[in-house]
Amino acid sequence: MNNNYTENSGSTNFIKTIINEHNRTGRFNGRVHTRFPPEPNGYLHIGHAKSICLNFGLADEYGGKCNLRFDDTNPVKEEQEYIDAIIENVRWLGFDWEDRLYFASDYFQIMYDFAEQLIIAEKAYVCDLNSEQIREYRGTLKEPGQESPWRNRSVADNLDLFRRMRSGEFEDGSKTLRAKIDMASGNLNMRDPVIYRILKAHHPRTGSQWCIYPMYDWAHGLEDSIERITHSLCTLEFEDHRPLYDWFLEALDTYRPQQIEFARLNLTYTVMSKRKLLTLVKDKIVNGWDDPRMPTISGLRRRGYSPESIRSFCDKIGVSKANSTVDYAMLEYCAREHLNKTSQRVMAVLKPLKVVITSYSDDAVEMLEADNNPEDPSMGKRLIPFSKIIYIETDDFMENPPGKYFRLAPGKEVRLKHAYYITCNKVIRDHNGNITEIHCTHDPKSRGGWTPDNRRVKGTLHWVSAGHAVKAEVRLYEHLFTKENPLDVPDGKSFFEFINENSVTVLKNALVEPELKNPKPETRYQFIRHGYFCADSDSKNNAPVFNRTVTLKDTWAKISRKSR
Ligand code: ATP
Ligand code: MG
Repeated sequence: MNNNYTENSGSTNFIKTIINEHNRTGRFNGRVHTRFPPEPNGYLHIGHAKSICLNFGLADEYGGKCNLRFDDTNPVKEEQEYIDAIIENVRWLGFDWEDRLYFASDYFQIMYDFAEQLIIAEKAYVCDLNSEQIREYRGTLKEPGQESPWRNRSVADNLDLFRRMRSGEFEDGSKTLRAKIDMASGNLNMRDPVIYRILKAHHPRTGSQWCIYPMYDWAHGLEDSIERITHSLCTLEFEDHRPLYDWFLEALDTYRPQQIEFARLNLTYTVMSKRKLLTLVKDKIVNGWDDPRMPTISGLRRRGYSPESIRSFCDKIGVSKANSTVDYAMLEYCAREHLNKTSQRVMAVLKPLKVVITSYSDDAVEMLEADNNPEDPSMGKRLIPFSKIIYIETDDFMENPPGKYFRLAPGKEVRLKHAYYITCNKVIRDHNGNITEIHCTHDPKSRGGWTPDNRRVKGTLHWVSAGHAVKAEVRLYEHLFTKENPLDVPDGKSFFEFINENSVTVLKNALVEPELKNPKPETRYQFIRHGYFCADSDSKNNAPVFNRTVTLKDTWAKISRKSR
């Protein structure tokens, strides 16, 4: 695994070097115009966030523009639900395309006209080979391909056939339009690639207007050219397609952007391709695209990640030409870094144990003051009710503790956060011998958590007042996969083998401060000693649900120190 990344934001990278050179030579008259071009065939994931931050970020830095464009050229896999989710995700991440929301399907007629132009220039032909034959004729990396028997049709025949393809006269797959380039090229992409196929499918935006659809390589460069994009950023696997990108635009003698490839983001313990994420959804391994375990932007959002933390992550990983895998712990580090500064610190007891403070008066309720966030005094203070019966964490009490146990045990004194020092003196059990409650006495002079004699205690526990706490459901998450690289699978096996059976734990009897009774979904908190949590959209009136975003323990600092 490779953890290297460019740490300082605003730093330079190889893409900026290229842009600076273009600005120096005046190739684009100093313009910088990028685009983020998702195909609406699934929800966006954290890898897309890298591309979004890169494209919008560069436009911002150079005072340029960035378009949001849907590459909706494959009607079979694309859906309106995906379009809506993508728009919402990009906006939530904090980016603005102003009035430049485009759809490739809006250019279908222009693309079609360009295709006729290519036919007239004798650079495209209608081919009757089926897809299997086309593959056979293509040859291999070692052997040149074979020319199609239909390669030398006349311009008139080609135009006539192409028009009839469009009008729906031929069956799906029976004909294609192909570019006439070079069947002996060392680059397989240049061996007369298909540019149009017949597909009698309903398109979410153009309906049944078209029965021929452009192929990606043909469409993408044209979309960029039509929008006068300057720098067309894409992932490394398109490096071998760049000659074709350039060939099409040169053959049409039209405006040509510069395609630049960068390494895609890979993350440990997850999968990233939309196709694989779709299987997780379809097979109900997760509860939808926005399941908090998903690496989708919607999933991360529901899990409690802030847009700031995702942007900071994309900034820290930087861009490079070499594929690598980033440790998931680094993404979590970015979440903590932002949430530590911005989230309110509250008390929540996940597995409650009843504590009776026998020395405290029966019906007194005191309101004790607590900082909302000691990192940021401007977030103010709040009052928390304290009373005779409270709940602490079951794990914070042990009847026969080992040597270095700093929490509550018979005869031991601990601090209750924001409240009093208490000492345990009795354990109550039911007839099965299970502990049902513990009895303590408090030191009235320790109000607020400190004593006049500065007596030290080792442990500080969180708690909630029994009469005031609100019952909540808390969902704790782990990685979705048990393997660092779930795609590294032995032959004949699938990544499904490495799904983590314990990726979610639901605690239905947690108790939270009364403050958290009706949280607005997506409000982010720190539950002290437990981590960062986010109110889930499943929350109902008086029955809140919280997702743990991350624990408080930072593993990234350790990993990154090791690798430096
Ligand atoms: P997937 O393989 O996950 O379906 P894709 O590349 O097919 O991804 P598109 O919708 O075509 O998805 O991608 C939109 C943009 O996001 C493209 O420019 C693509 O290069 C970029 N992108 C996709 N995945 C990543 C990734 N893991 N890291 C960086 N950029 C990515
Ligand atoms: Mg794609």
